[in-house]
Amino acid sequence: MSMFASRTVVFAAAFLATALPSPARAQSADDWARLEAQDLRLAAVAERLQGANALLCNALMPLTGLILHSADQYGTASSNERFRNSPLAIASLLPGSPAALAGLAPDDGVVAIDGVPVADIAPETGQRLREAAFYRMAGRTSAAPLTLTVARDGAQRQVVLDAPQGCRSLVEVLLGDGPMARSDGKVIQVQYDTVERLSDAHLAVVVAHELAHTVLEHRRRKEAAGIDSGLLAELGRNQRANREAEIEADRLAVHLLANAGYDPATMPDFFRNAPTLGIRGLALPSFVYPSPEARAELVERELALYLPSHRGPSWPGHLLARRDVAFSAAD
Ligand SMILES: [Zn+2]
Repeated sequence: MSMFASRTVVFAAAFLATALPSPARAQSADDWARLEAQDLRLAAVAERLQGANALLCNALMPLTGLILHSADQYGTASSNERFRNSPLAIASLLPGSPAALAGLAPDDGVVAIDGVPVADIAPETGQRLREAAFYRMAGRTSAAPLTLTVARDGAQRQVVLDAPQGCRSLVEVLLGDGPMARSDGKVIQVQYDTVERLSDAHLAVVVAHELAHTVLEHRRRKEAAGIDSGLLAELGRNQRANREAEIEADRLAVHLLANAGYDPATMPDFFRNAPTLGIRGLALPSFVYPSPEARAELVERELALYLPSHRGPSWPGHLLARRDVAFSAAD
């Protein structure tokens, strides 16, 4: 499911674009400012793709522009000044988003979501509070406005966020080692170094590929077919199904890009120039991923056949129909 030759399945969910702090990586105020800048860049690219492609997605969520974090992410530093208002607080906000227009600000505490006190939102084992809060917000079945109770310096108020719907996925910056990007159907993670190094246009290519896995419900379809995306991903029918999924994701990604107003021709350019962009791993031998040149030609063919104008709106029904098709049966 990852953009490149690694098939690690994500186990840790997290909140929209909020990086997991690592004491080794982020210690100074400077580090945090750099991290926050990349959080915001990734969130802006992701929300643009998620919002513009809402009609293509079966699972939706409100796009609030909120980037939340929780005190339990920070271990012993949980008495941090940033959580003086609530253990769930606003890390940053996308400019111009519903959350920003509602007058919310960094370090405001979130004390209730749709009237449910944050104190009553119990994270599941291995989850942090921000993840539990995310699933409560993203898992709402109604498109009714989201009501948050927020606290600032001892005063509480309710804000109603009439946020547009977008494809449901957590998108976050990941610190530490691992593939440049990966997704598990619920969470999309992009390495900090990747986010920092790539232009917005190239970052959009990476996010579009991962979001395509979500739109095409590859996780559900692989599980239904008993396909292994992990250690056995390169073998037999696993390899065929995983390769099929990667090809579907590359083909759909050009439509997702066009719908969001990005130039889909950036995608073949990205594959061909990955080494000069400092992208590692793209050319690693793999039976799951076609070669970078083959991927570039694949998306050029998709554009020529289905999107010659290179512009949205695009309804890629030929690919969306794959959601109802099972992956290859057993040998
Ligand atoms: Zn992939």
